[in-house]
Amino acid sequence: MSDVYAEPATAGDPTDPATLARYTTLRLGGPAGRLEIAGDAAQIVLKVQEAEAREQAVLVLAGGSNVVIGDQGFPGTVVLVRSRGFQVVAEDGDTVTVRVEAGEPWDDLVAATVERGWSGLECLSGIPGSAGATPIQNVGAYGQEVAETIVAVEAYDRTRREVVRIAAADCGFVYRGSIFKYSDRWVVLTVDFRLTRSQLSGPVRYAELARALGVEVGDRVPLADARATVRKLRAGKGMVLDAADPDTWSVGSFFTNPVLPGEVFEQVRERAADLGQPPHWPGADGTVKVSAAWLIDKAGFGKGYAGPEGVAISSKHTLALTNRSGTASTAALVALAREIRDGVQSRFGVTLHPEPVLINCTI
Ligand SMILES: Cc1cc2nc3c(=O)[nH]c(=O)nc-3n(C[C@H](O)[C@H](O)[C@H](O)COP(=O)(O)OP(=O)(O)OC[C@H]3O[C@@H](n4cnc5c(N)ncnc54)[C@H](O)[C@@H]3O)c2cc1C
Repeated sequence: MSDVYAEPATAGDPTDPATLARYTTLRLGGPAGRLEIAGDAAQIVLKVQEAEAREQAVLVLAGGSNVVIGDQGFPGTVVLVRSRGFQVVAEDGDTVTVRVEAGEPWDDLVAATVERGWSGLECLSGIPGSAGATPIQNVGAYGQEVAETIVAVEAYDRTRREVVRIAAADCGFVYRGSIFKYSDRWVVLTVDFRLTRSQLSGPVRYAELARALGVEVGDRVPLADARATVRKLRAGKGMVLDAADPDTWSVGSFFTNPVLPGEVFEQVRERAADLGQPPHWPGADGTVKVSAAWLIDKAGFGKGYAGPEGVAISSKHTLALTNRSGTASTAALVALAREIRDGVQSRFGVTLHPEPVLINCTI
């Protein structure tokens, strides 16, 4: 999984007009003004401070699996986070707290926790990118999200110019978001996860996963079974990176599932009356989360729907927009995203929002 990270041809050479497409899973993005590689937490801080001293904007990039970078690239300094490793920092009865360097490849970490019999991350198997990026959008899948296990984030605070420890309660975790998303203020250095010593997974919450495991929702299964089954389900949807499969040349889900006030959801239901019931999940506060994939599909944008320059909806998953030709521009990808967003808006009156962070481009 470590090969998720591309390394520069000329590492650390500030004259290398690095094309950021090389570092993103979409294979899109123009040149960086300057590219720096940071191999540990101290270097991450140093590279950011040096860029600030040059009065350059800073883009922190790790696996590049949740960014859409414009064709003009990023004129400032791009800091590639390549710190590695994790260590146990506390043990208390059944729990173990693991401190993970920001650049540690996420799926390597999940594999290591499953091997050691530490429960809590198993359903997040197969997600690309780095451990340090997981708090940014409160990464989640198959009924688990990192907010459930993160206890604290250590970050360089660019406003206060010091390293700070932010308790989970202060991270502002919400569905696919946190205080870190869309903010340049914090650079994550390490993340602490509190996991449970157990050979069994947490209760399986996701119906599709329970079915695939042959158990009921709420049952627990061996960690290794949960991991293998999640990876298998994900691979079938093009949601595990595969250099040979252009359906995975994406950022995963391009749009978040819209969370609607109850009365707005009823209006959507009426507008969709001839199409069947949109899959939805009621929230505790009266809101309803609706399947973006269903809305997109029913608005006429099915799997494989193609846009300009060989960009297309994945042939395996309606929510993934792909650069399947490998030669498209960011302009083409965002044109497809715009067409889908506008189509869903006009059919159902719902505005979809992008899940990845858009850098020097907009939909
Ligand atoms: C095939 C595929 C499947 C996916 N499936 C899922 C899924 O199931 N669930 C899910 O939640 N996501 C999913 N994603 C999205 C993505 O993998 C995650 O959001 C991942 O955590 C991004 O990590 P990264 O290291 O690639 O971040 P990057 O893309 O490098 O960065 C993303 C954002 O985080 C910021 N950032 C990165 N590292 C740091 C840091 N150390 N400090 C401060 N800011 C930082 C960047 O500046 C940028 O704004 C998927 C993506 C792909 C391509």
